[in-house]
Amino acid sequence: MLTDYHLHLQPDGEEARDADRTRWDREGGARSPGWIARYVDQARARAVSEIAITEHVHRFADVRHWHPNPWWQGEATEDLGAHCDALLAARDGGLPVLVGIEMDWIPDRVDDTRALLAAHPFDIVLGSVHWLGDLAVDHPDYPCWDDLGADETWGRYLDELAAAAASGLFDVLAHPDLPKVFGTRMPAHLAGRRDEVIAAIADCGVAVECSSAGLRKPIGELYPDPDWLAAFCRAGVPVTLSSDAHRPEDVARDYPTAVAALRGAGYETITRFRAREPEQVAITWD
Ligand SMILES: [Zn+2]
Ligand SMILES: [Zn+2]
Repeated sequence: MLTDYHLHLQPDGEEARDADRTRWDREGGARSPGWIARYVDQARARAVSEIAITEHVHRFADVRHWHPNPWWQGEATEDLGAHCDALLAARDGGLPVLVGIEMDWIPDRVDDTRALLAAHPFDIVLGSVHWLGDLAVDHPDYPCWDDLGADETWGRYLDELAAAAASGLFDVLAHPDLPKVFGTRMPAHLAGRRDEVIAAIADCGVAVECSSAGLRKPIGELYPDPDWLAAFCRAGVPVTLSSDAHRPEDVARDYPTAVAALRGAGYETITRFRAREPEQVAITWD
């Protein structure tokens, strides 16, 4: 089977949402069965039989005070309980949808993160390192690159990725080589540190995702790149498959490329989740 385990029901940012709003309003809202069915229909058209909606935690009012960034606080307007209820209702209505969330790794919010995750019926929890302190790895308005440069950005990112894995909070580490998003690759001298981090991730038992989203970004390649993916496979790290779509058209986009990369790296299975319990299933196009 194939899955898409990283999906958002709306784009990021008020302006982008306003531009798309009539699309989900026509279906009855962004959490309506009709809008979620659009994601399922696109998944099925691309041979994907199960999806997880993994909304950004920063969309929910519960976490507004977790981060000082004004964009984060402006985005934190939604009701997480209502969101989970809508996904459960979609499943009860017959749609193959998992209740997920894309959590940020925020080192001084570990206890808050654990409490929030325990309070909701998640099937799958992604962990993402989007922030290095107040600076963003992938938000162009708050870039870390000017202040930190490539060495410090990548070095600190790798440290935080290892810490996120070791926290035990997450089922899957999302877009594991994210700092390349705008085109700045990891400096070669950090390769040894990267291998240490991959070994640490393997020890933690957390999965990583192979995401086609990077193909739609300036870097124009999968997350992670083939060298990282092969290193994860050699280390025994399980993998999930995802598109990180923020609209139905992008669900399972570029999966032939992603599946070929997984097989090229040596993977024969992907990880399926239910109630945060992992299971390996064969990678097949049926
Ligand atoms: Zn992300
Ligand atoms: Zn995402």
